[in-house]
Amino acid sequence: MKYKRILLKLSGEALMGDRQYGIDPKRLAEYANEIKQIHDKGVEIAVVIGGGNIFRGVAGASNGMDRVQGDYMGMLATVINGMALQGALEDAGMPTRLQTALKIEAIAEPYIKRRAVRHLEKGRIVIFGAGTGNPYFTTDTAAVLRGVEVHADVILKGTRVDGIYTADPEKDATATKYDTLTFDDVLKKGLNVMDTTAFTLSQENELPIIVFDMNKAGNLVRICEGELVGTTVNV
Ligand code: UDP
Repeated sequence: MKYKRILLKLSGEALMGDRQYGIDPKRLAEYANEIKQIHDKGVEIAVVIGGGNIFRGVAGASNGMDRVQGDYMGMLATVINGMALQGALEDAGMPTRLQTALKIEAIAEPYIKRRAVRHLEKGRIVIFGAGTGNPYFTTDTAAVLRGVEVHADVILKGTRVDGIYTADPEKDATATKYDTLTFDDVLKKGLNVMDTTAFTLSQENELPIIVFDMNKAGNLVRICEGELVGTTVNV
């Protein structure tokens, strides 16, 4: 396998499937199946999951809510998603641990880097919940942060589109996809890969990012085997 240890970032919205809100159990089972294929091949898997299908702090703030209060609610939403994914992975026969940046001891371990690494070495899938534990950050930033901390080989950002395009392919029919980009290319071209904090952290630590379509069966395993799927951003 090309990648021995990966950090998979899934957005909260991805869990909605065809719904407008919440979690689609069918989609969860599909993702568990995709993850099982790489788990069976011995890839060590860490997952960071978003919360946008349930709550986003910015949305709360735009309705008059205190932003910090809203962000903590968003972080809790990622814990709900993490628990849902954990259940689906266990149903598919994989050992898992949920570690959260905010302590919720009845349901998750607190985030402890050394412990997380030990779980990965033992073949357990580690889901990191509650983002970075701080308001004003995103789960993309949490993904890169945890990826750097546990020495993941790559960040795999699973999305609805199959890579990074010259323009938004859902709005511009002439948009074309990049296969590879450097971090500098992304900045020069003003492309939107992740928020600036997440992107800078990835660049500074030379941690490659692959943006790919998580809804296409087999993509995850193909990437781990070294096939060029989606768009790779590297130094
Ligand atoms: N959040 C936060 N700090 C973090 C990560 C997340 O405050 O380190 C909050 C923030 O309000 C965010 C919400 O949790 O809007 C859900 O995360 P995100 O928007 O990144 O989820 P996604 O877009 O991936 O579903």
